[in-house]
Amino acid sequence: MTCASGSTITVATSIAGDVKALLAAAKADGLKLCGGGFRTADAQIAVRKANCGTTYYDIWQKPSSQCSPPTAIPGTSMHERGLAIDFTSCDTRTTACYKWLAANAADFGLQNLPSEPWHWSTNGR
Ligand SMILES: [Zn+2]
Repeated sequence: MTCASGSTITVATSIAGDVKALLAAAKADGLKLCGGGFRTADAQIAVRKANCGTTYYDIWQKPSSQCSPPTAIPGTSMHERGLAIDFTSCDTRTTACYKWLAANAADFGLQNLPSEPWHWSTNGR
């Protein structure tokens, strides 16, 4: 779907309606939220290489908590199911983006992963 900024965000059909409503509600409050949703398996591997390291162990076995920032093992990320969104301009808990999501995202079925202020998904993982 298209964000207020004109960029696009891809999520699973099952949550598209809720995410669209969330973006509209944020826009009504003066916030142009957008971010990255669905990720292919190859894209998840690329993120693991960037955040965790490039060896077989780094990509497939290293605990997510040992990556910077924490990054799910390929095959286990909510992004690969289209059920998570990394919101841009939501890097810390002091941003307007985070504060708005903390107050409103639950109404649209999204929960925050505590270790990543920008990462919101249907189950908080
Ligand atoms: Zn994420």
